[in-house]
Amino acid sequence: MSFDLIVKNGNVILENESAVTDIGIKDGKIAEIGENLTGGSRVIEADGLIVSPGMVDAHVHITDPGGVRSEWEGYETGTRAAAKGGVTTFLEMPLNQLPATVDGKTLKAKFDAGKNKLTVDVASYGGLVPSNLDGGIQELDEGGVMAYKAFLSTAGDRNLEGDFENIGDYELYEGMKQIAETDKILSIHCENAEVTDKLGEIAMERGETSLKSYVETRPVFTEVEAIQRSILFAKETGCRLHIVHVACPEGVDEVTKAREAGLDVTCETCTHYLYFHTDELDDIGPVVKCSPPIRDIANREKMWEQLLNGEIDFVTSDHSPCTPDLKDTDNAFEAWGGISGLQNNVDVLFDEGVQKRGMTLNQFADAIANKPAKRFDLAHKGSITVGKDADFVFIKPSAPYTLKAEDLEYRNQISPYVGREIGCQVVQTILRGETIYDSEQGVSELHSGRFILDKNN
Ligand SMILES: [Zn+2]
Repeated sequence: MSFDLIVKNGNVILENESAVTDIGIKDGKIAEIGENLTGGSRVIEADGLIVSPGMVDAHVHITDPGGVRSEWEGYETGTRAAAKGGVTTFLEMPLNQLPATVDGKTLKAKFDAGKNKLTVDVASYGGLVPSNLDGGIQELDEGGVMAYKAFLSTAGDRNLEGDFENIGDYELYEGMKQIAETDKILSIHCENAEVTDKLGEIAMERGETSLKSYVETRPVFTEVEAIQRSILFAKETGCRLHIVHVACPEGVDEVTKAREAGLDVTCETCTHYLYFHTDELDDIGPVVKCSPPIRDIANREKMWEQLLNGEIDFVTSDHSPCTPDLKDTDNAFEAWGGISGLQNNVDVLFDEGVQKRGMTLNQFADAIANKPAKRFDLAHKGSITVGKDADFVFIKPSAPYTLKAEDLEYRNQISPYVGREIGCQVVQTILRGETIYDSEQGVSELHSGRFILDKNN
């Protein structure tokens, strides 16, 4: 057989094992896996490297079109950062951009904004908001969104026309009934809005400004209550459910119980909940502010256990960048909540999981690629199997480096990982058989990425 490309001698993470072997690629697809393959027009030597499926990051915010937020992250910079970090596909959230993605027209505005700018593949989310219960959900389905997203905590700026809005209980109920008809998944940000808003208000009146006190205004039970409520509504309506960025083991326990009871529910956590802890937040500053907040070390280590035993389905970045001025304040309560992490999922998780906590290579590939691809129906993505897209990340193990701001491809080069030593490196990323990043040449200018629409489109 002749191939367009052969990747030789890498330690390849296959579906149920890993092995030093070759991968033959034809027309952007994996055509053959086996030793001593020959007949490649091009050959890439991967000796000494881990060859993993490219990450499928199921939770990324790109603020494009941005309106008054046009200096936030765009498609050009966001997908370049993905490529450099080993992410070959991401699911993009329906908020932060203006207008928010809530109907056919605003979804089309997203596709137009990303035209000829993508370095990796992008699938889109649509929103469930109070204003789109009379046809918007169906338009998003017809437009090819992969899933829906709703907020139970307070979201969006009511002074900005077209900004995203959180929902109340009736809207959750009605929205879930409509989404159940599409057979797509509703992903929910679970925090109790009323309690967290009020606790925040009280803390600010008292003059609290630290990140530590911000964390205290969003206690574990406010997350757990919203997860329980979502599960109950899903049971009532038959809507498929995914809980985004769970930040406490007690929240994961609720998902596990519901799954064991036969419900179609999954959950993710984020790289930053598996890396940082409360006591270091004030030294790092508002760049590490997010919600739900980053909790203590015991919380973090328990979540690692839940990831390794499969209770947490997969890991995402929740890449949610803004401009530096919105993080430049001594008052944690006033800072924008969101962490830029898209470029440092793969290296941080490989180092913290595989190199430091005994995670197997298959557990790693499941958490970053295989499980999110399966959950969101990305049929061509997520594993190194014959017939799938040839999307890979090459990882150089035991090769520490210290992340510098200038390494970041983001539009705004801020990240809480800056200054941290990370114990491995992403050295090459391949999308459908084309190199989109390598450590010598940098990120490709070819814009090889595409929008992925659901299978009906
Ligand atoms: Zn998010």
